[in-house]
Amino acid sequence: MNQKEYRELYESKAFAETYLYEGNDLGARCKENSTVFKLWSPLAVCVQLNLYKDCESPAFLSVAMKKEEKGVWSHLEPKNCHGVFYDFSVTENNETRTTPDPYARSCGCNGTRSMAVDLDKTNPDGWELDQPPKASAEQVIYEIHVKDFSHDPASGVREDYRGRYKAFTLTGTTLNDQGEKPTCLDYLKQLGVTHVQLLPVYDFGSVDEAGGDDQFNWGYDPQNYNVPEGSYATDTTDGVTRIRELKELILTLHQNGIGVIMDVVYNHTYRRDYCFDLAVPNYYYRQFEDGRGTNGSACGNDMASDREMCANYIYDSLMYWAKEYHMDGFRFDLMGLLDTDLMNRIREGMDREFGKGTILLYGEPWTAGESPLRDGKHPSVKTNLDRLDEGIGVFCDTIRDAVKGHVFEETVPGFVNGGKGLDTQILKAARGFAPAETSFPVKSPNQLITYVSAHDNLTLWDKLMITMRPGKEFDRRWDDVVRANRMAAAICFTCQGRLFFQAGEEAARTKHGDENSYRSSVAVNRIDWNRVYEYEDLTAYYRGLIAFRKQMPGLCDKTKDAQKRILEEKNPVSGVVWFCVDNREHPEWDRLLVCCNSTDKPFSIDLPQNVWELLVDGENSGLWKDAKQVTASTVVERVSVSVFGRKRI
Ligand code: CA
Repeated sequence: MNQKEYRELYESKAFAETYLYEGNDLGARCKENSTVFKLWSPLAVCVQLNLYKDCESPAFLSVAMKKEEKGVWSHLEPKNCHGVFYDFSVTENNETRTTPDPYARSCGCNGTRSMAVDLDKTNPDGWELDQPPKASAEQVIYEIHVKDFSHDPASGVREDYRGRYKAFTLTGTTLNDQGEKPTCLDYLKQLGVTHVQLLPVYDFGSVDEAGGDDQFNWGYDPQNYNVPEGSYATDTTDGVTRIRELKELILTLHQNGIGVIMDVVYNHTYRRDYCFDLAVPNYYYRQFEDGRGTNGSACGNDMASDREMCANYIYDSLMYWAKEYHMDGFRFDLMGLLDTDLMNRIREGMDREFGKGTILLYGEPWTAGESPLRDGKHPSVKTNLDRLDEGIGVFCDTIRDAVKGHVFEETVPGFVNGGKGLDTQILKAARGFAPAETSFPVKSPNQLITYVSAHDNLTLWDKLMITMRPGKEFDRRWDDVVRANRMAAAICFTCQGRLFFQAGEEAARTKHGDENSYRSSVAVNRIDWNRVYEYEDLTAYYRGLIAFRKQMPGLCDKTKDAQKRILEEKNPVSGVVWFCVDNREHPEWDRLLVCCNSTDKPFSIDLPQNVWELLVDGENSGLWKDAKQVTASTVVERVSVSVFGRKRI
């Protein structure tokens, strides 16, 4: 069959009727005295299961699998095969291909062979008591890469844990191990974030698991969707360690009140010549009508999430991570490549299983190229937000770019660093975008992730440096850049929507201008813990904002009615905006007035009648802890945000 014929077959009604398998028992399932292996391979004429004792030696058993209904092949091995390695030999078109299991739950080094695993044997102590953290009034998501977090020796993390899952399980680590300034987990707790979003922790292909610790990749190149990445484990060969250590990470974060969100990349895979295409040629990859592969991921191999079995795969995979690993949320890379039906189905399934809205779901509402879906399917891009469940969020690139300048135009500034004409955007962002705006039909702030920096593109510090101090002395401290950074943070933390920031944004993280560091050195990427403490004043400002935000019901509201809380919006002069927020549930301040002055001069504001107190200004985000009354006519300093609270009478 040629490519076009494959497409016609796979997308035909007859194919779905004959081969759509609804069971969720594909892969290897270990029981006390038996293990069942199942592979979906509808066009195969023969499938053989090969069992191995490790990743190198020849098979100790090869057995023909039994053909069942709906294109499923199965074999029951009469023992618990926990720790046994396996793969399949699939014969089709007079050709035999050996493939790892697309549904594998573990594997050996680099995923060359899958491993059967009895999941009960992978649980760390205390796992059965694990509970998700208590719901917080606001979600503040901190995006961190496993290796970045602790690779720096200054992190105080013991050497064998640095850059690994295990580093997240340590409490009491301090800067340079001097016993004073907290790092890693203790630092996160102090900062007040409610969730960490881990850059990919599923098994990816770009890092050699047998290679050295100085390799680096973000990991947006999935290989085994249902297996943790091995290079972050202390043992890469044994398929149990990677599972147990990732669970330990989650357990420890949960014990410390922090939820874990997994970055998932169901839009493309590392390569084509791996499990999916070897098991079922061309099925899992999207095609244009003429049979050519689409390229909306810019990686040349888009997953065909609009085909039934691929959609089922993605759904089952997410359920597996949520149930087995207790993940608290998922961030979808290039969510625009997945269709709205699938996303809504995932939302529904998660709500049914865990309670409405318990598992956070959000993603990038765009694609990186053309990738047409099957008839009747709609991509999960931001113009289709109205087709997505209200419980599915998207990254708001409008606020991101309005605050600091466009991400693809390095030298273009935003509101805080000298950009003009952005006043309306800043005001719109404050109320989580009006549904009337057709290009971004937001149902409620529940659908918005408000942010100014993420792993992609320049760090906030580098963007501010390039636009404000073009000498590129990224390591030098510039107070006006720190001031702009504080302002960017204060705008975000007073916008409606969920809050998100890149690890280190709160400490002037620099990658020295590297705007796409996905495979740059660890030195470029990792958190520089000494620098974190060089900028502890900035960190303190973030910490104050986080604590402030969590206490202000007017800002945390995620309902459809949240917009009605914005009572007044003013743009008195170019570069200055202010708005009032109905904060009526708060015992002390029933109204907030947020004034953002991006000009280079102080702005005099006449506060409306009543008694007002200053809660946050451009230097101090903790004034609310001991708020002082201000006069009716007051000043908001240049390049700063002030928040005033109206004293409840
Ligand atoms: Ca890997």
